[in-house]
Order: sequence, then structure tokens, then C-alpha cells
Amino acid sequence: MTDPARTVLAGLDGVRADLEALYKDLHQHPELGLREHRTAGKAADALREAGYRVTEGVGGTGVVAVLANGDGPTVMARADMDALPVRERTGLPYASTVTDTDDGAEQPVMHACGHDVHVTSLVGCARLLAAGKDAWRGTFVALFQPSEEKGDGADAMIADGLTERSPRPDVVLAQHVLPLPAGYVGTRPGPFLSAADSLRVTVHGRSAHGSSPQNAVDPVVMAAMIVVRLQTIVSRELAATTPAVVTVGSIHAGASPNVIPDSAVIQLNVRTYDETTRARVLRAVERIVRAECQASGAPKEPEFETVATFPPTVNDDATTRRVAEAFAAHFGDDAHTVGLHTASEDMSKIPEAFGAPFTYWAIGGIDPDRYAEAAAKGTVDQDIPVNHSPRFAPVVQPTLDTGVRALTTAALAWLGA
Ligand code: ZN
Ligand code: ZN
Repeated sequence: MTDPARTVLAGLDGVRADLEALYKDLHQHPELGLREHRTAGKAADALREAGYRVTEGVGGTGVVAVLANGDGPTVMARADMDALPVRERTGLPYASTVTDTDDGAEQPVMHACGHDVHVTSLVGCARLLAAGKDAWRGTFVALFQPSEEKGDGADAMIADGLTERSPRPDVVLAQHVLPLPAGYVGTRPGPFLSAADSLRVTVHGRSAHGSSPQNAVDPVVMAAMIVVRLQTIVSRELAATTPAVVTVGSIHAGASPNVIPDSAVIQLNVRTYDETTRARVLRAVERIVRAECQASGAPKEPEFETVATFPPTVNDDATTRRVAEAFAAHFGDDAHTVGLHTASEDMSKIPEAFGAPFTYWAIGGIDPDRYAEAAAKGTVDQDIPVNHSPRFAPVVQPTLDTGVRALTTAALAWLGA
């Protein structure tokens, strides 16, 4: 029996140079969330040329490209397109020097999260599936999503009628390049990426002269106690086997050494992997803040505001097993089970909108020799640049080949069956 993945991927040698050029071009021209006009245009052009029916402008800059190829399952693969406000320091010949002034202040822009790898890999997979149509049956949908980093791109596409503008998928697939050795593919059944909740908490005191604390309720002390006490949620309220993170990333109060201010603002970020833990940690945050305010005699209740929220990314078991088996057959020793990650994604909202199962996997992007050297020294955390770092620079190969092969192999686990 012929292996459809092998047949379709035989075309990879013929498109590799094109894909590498596209990748370097996208890397050099990064665009912030919901402004991915050039990127979306490149993806749409490539897919139209390959014979896809392309809908542009879904939720701003989103692209949905459909290739119907007879009776069979419908597989959707999703790539995110946006870059980050980071000044690139990779030193690559195709490094970005782009800045964006649309928000008022000029900010640098960089593909520091590898979404250029995702777009290029999906273009590659889509082209190969079109060229190798005889090897499979069904419908393939390539979806290019805006604004993952801000967490509003999937919502924007759904609000703009995504479920009416695309055939309903039987399965949704997505991948992310991570600081792992290039060539590596890693699946994970169940929870993979954390939920993220960012909160802004305002606590109220009573202002007074710095010399007269007896006239004040000091919100600086209140905030300090809160920050310390919040550390006990993960260490004292959750089981050692339940992963979670509570980080206070910002704390602001007052402006002068001899004035006790009347309020303090604490911004914190919570990462959890299931809804029960998520609810429990958020309840604990609120309980601690209220109790510390009460302990200080605050004249007014604290205020809580959710600034950003991402759902957990929980892979469907059966879908993941099917992809893992396909990867094992195709990648051999390079196919792994990947650990939990404390990053977050809005990708799961898309399959959820369709009521479809999904799986999301990792591919490596770090030069394997460099990674092995750091691993041998025990300095991976210090020496290997991670996503969002100004030095995050996936090696072009075998990263792109792996991204194309992984998407194609996974899609054909349904389309070629
Ligand atoms: Zn990112
Ligand atoms: Zn990302």
C-alpha cells in the first residue's frame, strides 16, 4: 500500500527554495496583531495560485482557504500571523528593522514568536496537498489567524462569521515552534498550554503626610502584604502535582517619599491548566486581596479588573493519538511526547466555535548541535533564547521542513486514510 504522506511530501524538494524565501521575507516584514495585511496577502496569493478558494479579511486580516477534493473528511489547519513589539537582536542577515507607529508611539516589530514559521509551513503544506491531490480525498482548509499575541484574533474571526465562511472541520490542527531542537516534533494528549488570566487590582487606603502614619491607611503596605501572601496560593493551597503560576508583574503606588498615597495598583498574571484549578486560584487571589484590605482597615473595597484572558489549550486524546501515530511512522526517533508549557493560546476558540476536536503540537527551532551543547552543560535555560526574546532565531532548516512535514502528515492521517 502506498503511503499518501510519502507521496505528497515527495513534492517538498520542489517548493523548499520558495518556502525559504517566503520565510525570510515574512521575517523581515513582521506585522503587529490585526495589521497583518502584507502577510495575509502573501498567504492568500500563494493559496489562490495553488487552486484554493480564498476568503480574505475574515475578522480584519484573517484568511480562509479551501481546497475541496472529493468526498471525505474536512481537515482545518491554523497558523497565526502576528509579530511582537520587540526590537530584533538576532544579527541575522534577514533581521527585521521594521517599526510601527500606528499606536501613536513608534515601536519596533519582530517575529519573536516564530509565527513566520507557522505561516510558511502552512503555505508549504497547502501547496503540497494541492499538487498531490491524487493521493487523498476530502477537504483541506488552511486558516491564517491574526492577532494571537493579543488574544483577540480568533475571537475576531469568529465574530466575523468564520463558521459560515468555512466548511465545518472534522478536526482542527495547529503547531508552534518552541525552543527545542530543530527536527523535533512533540505531541501531548490532554492539557498542553496553560490558561492565562491577567488582572488589575486596585486597593484603597487613606492618604496622609509621610510623617503621620496614624492619619493614614497605607496602601503601599497593603500591596506589599498582598504580593507576599499571593505566593502562598501555589505553594500552600495547591497539590504539589498541580502546576500553576501566580506572578505579580507590576505594582504602582505613590510618587513621593513623604506622602502616603491613597491607592495602589497591582497587576498579576495567573497560569493554570484546568478550569477547576483556574477557578480555585482566581478565588484565592480575590480572597487574599479582600482579607488584606480588611486587615489594614481599608476604607473601601478593592476593585478587580480582568485585563486579558486565554483559555487553556487541552488537546483531544483520540485526535492527538492519531497524529502521534502518524508522526511516529513518519519522524521515527524525532517524534516525542512534549511537556506542559506555561504559554497560552487563543487557538482553541476556533475548534470550539465549530464544535470540532483539535490537537496542537510543538516543533523545535533551535540548531540541534547548539541545543545538545547547552543540554550537556545544563544551561538550556540560560543559553537558548526562548519565544518573545529579541534573540529568538529559529534555524531555517530543518525547522521549515519539519513544520511542513508535520502539518502534512497530520492532515493526511484523516485525508489519506
Ligand atoms: Zn507568542
Ligand atoms: Zn506564538
